[in-house]
Amino acid sequence: MRYVSLGSGSKGNSTLIEHNNRSLLIDCGFSRKNLLVRLQQAQADGHQLEGLLVTHEHSDHAKGAMAVCELFDIPLYCSAGTAIHMKWTDHRLWNRLNCGDQVDLAGMKVGAITVPHDAREPLQFVVEGGNRKLGVLSDLGSLTRRIVDAYQGCHGLQLEANHDPDMLKVGPYPPSLQKRVAGPYGHLSNAQCAELIGQIHWSGVQHITAGHISEKNNHPELVFGELSKVLGHLAEQVEILAQDDISGWREL
Ligand SMILES: [Zn+2]
Ligand SMILES: [Zn+2]
Repeated sequence: MRYVSLGSGSKGNSTLIEHNNRSLLIDCGFSRKNLLVRLQQAQADGHQLEGLLVTHEHSDHAKGAMAVCELFDIPLYCSAGTAIHMKWTDHRLWNRLNCGDQVDLAGMKVGAITVPHDAREPLQFVVEGGNRKLGVLSDLGSLTRRIVDAYQGCHGLQLEANHDPDMLKVGPYPPSLQKRVAGPYGHLSNAQCAELIGQIHWSGVQHITAGHISEKNNHPELVFGELSKVLGHLAEQVEILAQDDISGWREL
């Protein structure tokens, strides 16, 4: 099983996961055209795609999702709340996901987990292929027991490290937006990301990537600084995901 971030941040997110030459996407916050360019950069074949999972309706996650599904004629999975907001409920390609659901997709098992975020019914995903497990977690303002439990035992973790609270406070965001981002339904800070890793860290983790990094309210050095508190020198191996560039492929 292997995965690649096709871009991560407030201007667009998408993660491609492949197992035995079959693949799925989590989110498509890019236009269809932009996503096709990014797939090409990853040397990925879009015709291997068997489905697309959408975490929530914010445009940096949902923007081009249905257009990509229509292009490849593949199912789109998301919660009813997300589908209602996006007006997808009558679409032939839409499939409903509930929290706690496990679906088989592209030869992998996908688990859906509810997260606290200011969207209608946001879900995040844990994907298992063979005996490998990848946890993708972004766009949540706080951690819950259910989240900590669901992400135990992952071999790969792609986690949100959105902001540094001090930079957010003195940054360019108006007070209302600062409050939203830092609030329990906003985004994870670097310290919250570290807290989660501390609660789920085990010797089998092969790759940790940090994403949805705020361009205005964070800095890679601050991410490494917080993560080193739980990972020690291993924090240096954490890959910081970029908005404009795809990441490398990570093999689990
Ligand atoms: Zn987002
Ligand atoms: Zn969001």
